[in-house]
Amino acid sequence: MRYYEVMSAALGPMRWWPAKTTFEVIVGAILTQSTAWGNVELAIANLRAAKMLTPQAMLRVRSERLASLIRPSGYFRQKAKKLKAFVRFLQANYKGSLARMFATPTAELREKLLKVHGVGPETADSILLYGGNHPVFVVDAYTHRILGRHGITDGKAEYEKVRAMIENSIPRQAELFNEFHALIVNTGKNWCRKSVARCEECPLRPLLPGNSPLHIFKTPTRRKTSPTEIPA
Ligand code: SF4
Repeated sequence: MRYYEVMSAALGPMRWWPAKTTFEVIVGAILTQSTAWGNVELAIANLRAAKMLTPQAMLRVRSERLASLIRPSGYFRQKAKKLKAFVRFLQANYKGSLARMFATPTAELREKLLKVHGVGPETADSILLYGGNHPVFVVDAYTHRILGRHGITDGKAEYEKVRAMIENSIPRQAELFNEFHALIVNTGKNWCRKSVARCEECPLRPLLPGNSPLHIFKTPTRRKTSPTEIPA
């Protein structure tokens, strides 16, 4: 909770996930795979303009047309297949009703979502948490990086282990998980970058332990390099 409190005090409410409807959250969770959020916004704007942001419309549209609408998000043919797989799953299991789907117990729904083509753990958990308010923590690359650099994990820990560790360390509340994940993303994007850790300006600097793996990379010979830089 100290991590949450420090980031929350410095960064304030994140108000994540930016979406107008629950279905839009799900579409965004699939489209954001391997791309920047700005590209997802462009794809979602196309879908909105084409009135494709409902499960029924997405079920009916031809895959080629769907792919062309989401082109800005990259890997658009694969992602069109994933979106189609999700809406078919929704139709087959819940008669197209997101409310019915999210009324399913968390563990059962998570297991089902993970069997849908293109839905891995991070996507499933984003759908559960941000779409359905189910208390599951979303682990992403920023979470792995920050925990690794702080010596809490080795930075390569399995998704499920990191998720369980966080879920068991803080109160199991969807609102808290929601805000915590968003704060981690913000901190990762702005300070804890892949190529360089900008620790001196980072809100989490007071919690960086003296034995952080970052210090392993401290190289006195590279005098123009920040001591917090590490290899990508
Ligand atoms: S930038 Fe430094 S202080 Fe901030 S989260 Fe990364 S390792 Fe920690």
